[in-house]
Amino acid sequence: MTKVALVTGGSRGIGRGICLALARSGVNVAVNYGSSATAAEEVVEAINALGREGLAIGADVSFPDRVEEMVKTVMERWGRIDILVNNAGITRDRLLLRMKVEDWEQVINLNLTGVFLCTSAVSKIMLKQKAGRIINISSIAGIMGNAGQANYSAAKAGVIGFTRSVARELASRGITVNAVAPGFIDTDMTAALGEEVVKGVLQSIPLGRFGTVAEVAGLVEFLALSEAANYITGQVLNIDGGLVMS
Ligand code: NAP
Repeated sequence: MTKVALVTGGSRGIGRGICLALARSGVNVAVNYGSSATAAEEVVEAINALGREGLAIGADVSFPDRVEEMVKTVMERWGRIDILVNNAGITRDRLLLRMKVEDWEQVINLNLTGVFLCTSAVSKIMLKQKAGRIINISSIAGIMGNAGQANYSAAKAGVIGFTRSVARELASRGITVNAVAPGFIDTDMTAALGEEVVKGVLQSIPLGRFGTVAEVAGLVEFLALSEAANYITGQVLNIDGGLVMS
């Protein structure tokens, strides 16, 4: 039986890498995107080139009706969902004194409420299947905080609490729920950082470099597919070059 994954924000960056890593390991992948339709179609073409099936689904996952529709579309195509990766995320960075309610709401609505909506919709299917792997992409900002990212850090810390609670609720039904907390990874999101900021950040990373999309995708693939991960749930796995050690 071919496994099926739904990856939110699969059109670019880390999500794109996760889609391709899963496809390479034999999984059919639903590639969710917000606005980058062409990029999502290219990811589907790359999945097809790897011999697997892909499906691009445009849906802003901060809205309940869009999420329900998206999950229905995946079920109509493949009839099952084995892996959910809640990856879609945005930043609206500002110091607290300048942060507007819109900056706060947009980030919380996508980065936290979106995770709740997708997990809630997909877990109903996984409960019937009596199996499933849910992986939520958090961030080290949710663990250590980051000046200028009160909204983002709050959402990502929320994802960690959500992960642990849902892991406890779903464990007895054969579903694992884990979070991955990347540090600084080379994507469009970090490309926006200025040269001076990057210099400062690099000094604080023991491994002395940003991480790659392939490295994060490899960790997600491990949690999604490996036998060892059958016995891992409710955990937060940092992948950050040693930036956070606890
Ligand atoms: P990215 O390159 O900016 O990509 C973000 C992805 O999210 C895109 O595929 C985008 O698709 C999608 N997206 C945005 N708004 C959406 C919406 N409303 N509905 C559905 N999808 C939406 O970001 P990234 O660096 O790969 O980050 C991926 C995840 O890792 C995020 O959750 C981020 O917070 C987390 N993270 C990243 C880093 C890092 O250093 N890069 C570090 C820690 C955590 P469209 O373009 O189609 O909208």
